[in-house]
Amino acid sequence: MPNPLGPVAGFGVTFKAMFKKRLTEQYPEYKKPTAPRFHGRHQLNRHPDGLEKCIGCELCAWACPADAIYVEGADNTEEERYSPGERYGRVYQINYLRCILCGLCVEACPTRALTMTNEYELADRTRESLIYTKEELLVGLTEGMVDSPHAIFPGMTEKDYYRGLVTEAAPGTVQQEIHDTGTPQSSADTFGPDEPASAGASPDATTAPGESTEGVKHQ
Ligand code: SF4
Ligand code: SF4
Repeated sequence: MPNPLGPVAGFGVTFKAMFKKRLTEQYPEYKKPTAPRFHGRHQLNRHPDGLEKCIGCELCAWACPADAIYVEGADNTEEERYSPGERYGRVYQINYLRCILCGLCVEACPTRALTMTNEYELADRTRESLIYTKEELLVGLTEGMVDSPHAIFPGMTEKDYYRGLVTEAAPGTVQQEIHDTGTPQSSADTFGPDEPASAGASPDATTAPGESTEGVKHQ
């Protein structure tokens, strides 16, 4: 036998919802603060004198389950030094179309060069704009820092940096001249959408050995 209340019973849900507390958020005018340990966009950190912490070891890329990180390391020289040790990350990219913000790359990083911010606005209209370059990921300069490349703090060793003995750039520290023949990484320089993925330490099939791949998005 049909329920006589059938036609109006469905409105019960509507009436119940009418008296509930509204959950509407005024985004993007009001951005709800995240939990302090929320996994958001990554950041490449610097030592207190401005040298970069990344040593280009690629461990983050190998740890990534989504194959979202591309790293190319290079040697520092006394004329052009980006990090206190032997190597630095010359090319660094994270593909936010692949990243699942799990944080495994942060766990793998031996120098705490890579951490995550609380930034969650990672939507855009183009594929290439969601491949973040080193230029976009490298943290800005704060007081006491000089932008890399520049000389190591006089009298200090690489280990002293990790012991926290360097707290700011030495007086008179100046940025070194950049002699790299490659163009700076820019979001305008990209492979097309059908280009094969080449993340982590995978061989880069699109680049001849020794050829500079800086300025090209690899994923
Ligand atoms: S957060 Fe996870 S998915 Fe994203 S780059 Fe790091 S390891 Fe890969
Ligand atoms: S971010 Fe850390 S793990 Fe990744 S290449 Fe740089 S130093 Fe290595």
